[in-house]
Amino acid sequence: MVDVLAIAAHPDDVEQTCGGTLMRMQEMGYRTGVLDLTAGEMGSRGSPEIRLREADAAGKQMRLAYRGNMHFPDARLENTLTARMTLALEIRLRKPRVVILPYWEARHPDHYRAGEMGFEACFLAGLKKLDAHSDAHRPFKVLYSSLYANVTPSFVVDITAYFERRMAALLCYESQYGESTEASSLFPQAQEIHERHAAIARFYGNLIGAKYGEPFVVKETMRVDDVVSMGVRSF
Ligand SMILES: [Zn+2]
Repeated sequence: MVDVLAIAAHPDDVEQTCGGTLMRMQEMGYRTGVLDLTAGEMGSRGSPEIRLREADAAGKQMRLAYRGNMHFPDARLENTLTARMTLALEIRLRKPRVVILPYWEARHPDHYRAGEMGFEACFLAGLKKLDAHSDAHRPFKVLYSSLYANVTPSFVVDITAYFERRMAALLCYESQYGESTEASSLFPQAQEIHERHAAIARFYGNLIGAKYGEPFVVKETMRVDDVVSMGVRSF
């Protein structure tokens, strides 16, 4: 069982979107988990076996209590009833209070489809009569991780203390980011990847007065109980 579950299309997605937040929640004492929907078998580099091993290593960097893989078909992820049901049963098992999904607009169809499947599976998971062998569980909150969508985040999590460890987790995917793969002539691959992610995290961190941040979108209005202690200064 986990408190926070991030559902993503491919191994190495959460390491680029909400990995820092997962690390921060883990350090606060919450149990964190990642459920990848595919093993990334359509990627031009690596193999499913290699990527699953790398996902395991990255999971250890993030100190996840759980990392699973649904082995749905990569690059042709489909929101079928069977897929939704399988996913819903996994959510019933893990009982997360918070589920992090990919934002609903994305370049890669698997990403926005994973968001849609995750949302619908969270709903199904809460139906008592869905399945006789598991208990109903509906997550309390769904957050959308929105790194590449040009949207204003509902909130940003300060991941300054976790950014380098998140990079270390991402670089566990040696088959994708190793020095031998398509290294550009100007920059070593690892340095290029580091700069790109640092720039994105700096941009979002800057919005809340932190060095590095991860943006999230929620569909509901955020509630504030104490306007005096609100963070992020106006001047
Ligand atoms: Zn992906």
